[in-house]
Amino acid sequence: MTLQFVRRIQDAEHIFTYYFEPERTLRYIAGQFLEFHIPHDNPDDRGEKRWFTVSSSPTETHLAITTKIDPKKPSTFKHALHNLNPGDTIEGSEAMGDFVLPKDESTKLIFIAGGIGVTPFRSMITWLAQSNKSRDITLLYMTQDEKQVAFRHELDQIFVSLHIMSDGKRRTAQELADTIGSIENAHIYISGPEPMAKALATDFRSMSAHAYQVVTDYFPGYESI
Ligand SMILES: Cc1cc2nc3c(=O)[nH]c(=O)nc-3n(C[C@H](O)[C@H](O)[C@H](O)COP(=O)(O)OP(=O)(O)OC[C@H]3O[C@@H](n4cnc5c(N)ncnc54)[C@H](O)[C@@H]3O)c2cc1C
Repeated sequence: MTLQFVRRIQDAEHIFTYYFEPERTLRYIAGQFLEFHIPHDNPDDRGEKRWFTVSSSPTETHLAITTKIDPKKPSTFKHALHNLNPGDTIEGSEAMGDFVLPKDESTKLIFIAGGIGVTPFRSMITWLAQSNKSRDITLLYMTQDEKQVAFRHELDQIFVSLHIMSDGKRRTAQELADTIGSIENAHIYISGPEPMAKALATDFRSMSAHAYQVVTDYFPGYESI
């Protein structure tokens, strides 16, 4: 499907959101992702396609993605994305993925975001707020430093119990569980750089004393938050 670029805004240091107008209504569930294709001259060996979680909510007018642009040497893909002009078009797939809210509205939810891994949570939380729905959500959001906290203003205003950890330290599942208090019967959603998300998921799953479910979303291409 063709997506027309509308605008970009900066959300935090090196972090930008890009807005698109799809040629027809794109159906997606908050938390899903698309494959994007940006043809450009001399692509590097990582190529012209990338997966991105939709950071906008289905209740919002434009489709948005949010990413970190490496200030020193971004891939040619990100360079092309960052240099789109309003009216330019790119290609996007249909939405896919099962990193979405559970159907049971009474499920207690713990969202753990590492850096740019906050994107699906921004979509879900905004969707809930704009649909006048409320759920029991705790968001633990880890970033390298204070300047890299994206969506700060929105997250502060929305109903979630928010813990921002902007000291760049890697935390264990136990440390995160201690911050929250009880994780019993919760669904734990982990999203972020692949090494972080995999390690935390394994860590949580080995804490077998509690009955909970762990759901993960890995972002390859990032080594740390
Ligand atoms: C389901 C899914 C959802 C995703 N959602 C998001 C999202 O919402 N936001 C987001 O930002 N990303 C998301 N990603 C990851 C995204 O697809 C890219 O992999 C990521 O943003 C890195 O982009 P890039 O390869 O253009 O590298 P850049 O970000 O431009 O590179 C960053 C740094 O990493 C190094 N690097 C990265 N990969 C390689 C490589 N293969 N070889 C050599 N060096 C490398 C670069 O040298 C550079 O210094 C998602 C991935 C998946 C699978």
